[in-house]
Amino acid sequence: MELGLTETIQINITDLAPINSVLIEIGGFNYSMTKISSITWEYSSWMPTSTGLKPYTIYANDSSNNRVSLSLLEILLLSAAPVKKPIPVGVSPRHVHLTKANFHGLFGPEAALERTRDLTQKGQFASEQLLTLATPVGRFENVRVLGPFRSASQVELARTDAVRLGLDPPIRDSGDLEGSPGLTLIGPAGRVELTSGVILAQRHVHMTPKDARDYDVVDKELVFMALAAPVPAEVRSSPRTVVFGDVLIRVHENFRLDFHLDTDEANASGARTGDQAVLFKIGGVPLQSERKYYPKKRLYSERDIMNADREGLIILVERDTIITPAARDMGRQKRVFEFR
Ligand SMILES: [Zn+2]
Repeated sequence: MELGLTETIQINITDLAPINSVLIEIGGFNYSMTKISSITWEYSSWMPTSTGLKPYTIYANDSSNNRVSLSLLEILLLSAAPVKKPIPVGVSPRHVHLTKANFHGLFGPEAALERTRDLTQKGQFASEQLLTLATPVGRFENVRVLGPFRSASQVELARTDAVRLGLDPPIRDSGDLEGSPGLTLIGPAGRVELTSGVILAQRHVHMTPKDARDYDVVDKELVFMALAAPVPAEVRSSPRTVVFGDVLIRVHENFRLDFHLDTDEANASGARTGDQAVLFKIGGVPLQSERKYYPKKRLYSERDIMNADREGLIILVERDTIITPAARDMGRQKRVFEFR
C-alpha cells in the first residue's frame, strides 16, 4: 500500500440473519461499507495520509440487531510515495541581479534595463544586457542580467562555475549575502568590484499560500523533491532519478508554482525547464540521532519512568507495551512517552 493512493478494503460476512449495515472504523473515523455481492462489503475510498500501522475495526449489524465487531488486521504503510500533483522544474543558469547604481556603472548612465523575456515569477525578467564575471582565476562572458533592480547586487552560480572562478560561495536563499565572496563585473562601459554577493542559490520551490495548504507545507520549510517519479516514461530524467533534500519552500501570494534548480543540480538528473518533480516529506519518524530511547521492555513501572526522566530518555510505547497505571500518569506528566 502506498501513500497518496486510494485503497479498497473488502470483507466477506456471513450470518444467520441478513446483514443490513457494515461500518469500518479507521483512525477514529467511521465509514459505511457498500454491499457489492451477497456476502461482500467494500469501502473503496480510503486514502491514507501517513505511514505506519493503521488499526481498523469493522462493525456489522444484522437484521436481528446483533452487532458483531472484528478488529482483524493492521495495515502496514511503508512507502512514502508522492502525494500531490507534480511541480514544474525551472533551471537557472548563472546570472546576475544588479543595483541601479552598479547597472549604470557597467552599462553607462544612459543605459536602460531592457526586458527580453518574462520569467515564471511575476515581475522578474531576463534583460537584453550581458556582462563578464572575472576573478584572478577565471572568467565567464555573456552572463545575463535579470531584472528588476535589487537593493544589493547578487551573482548566482552553480558549484561548477564557482570552482572555475576559484570561489567557494555559500549556499544561500536569495538576498542573504552576508559573508559571501565577491568578484569583478565587467560591462561595456566600466567595471564594478563586488566585495560580496556571490552565492550558490539554495534550491527552492515558489508557491502561493493556497499551494502551501495543498502540499501541507509552510514558508521556509525544507522538503524533498524527486525528479523522474511518478511517470518515468514521460520524464527526460527517467534513467537518472534524483531525490533532492534541503529544498526550501518559499510562499508568497505573487509566486507561481515552480521548483528552481541550478544547472549542476539539473544536469545531475538530466532535468530541463518544464520537466516535472514531485514534492514529498518524510514525517513522523524522528532521526535516530535526535532521540535516545530507554531500553525496550514489555512492562514499564514507575521506577522506569523515573530512570528515563533522569537520563533524558524516551520510552517507546507500542501496541503491546504494558504500563502500570501510576507509571502511565507519571510518564504523561514528565512527557517521556513516544507513542507508535
Ligand atoms: Zn526562484
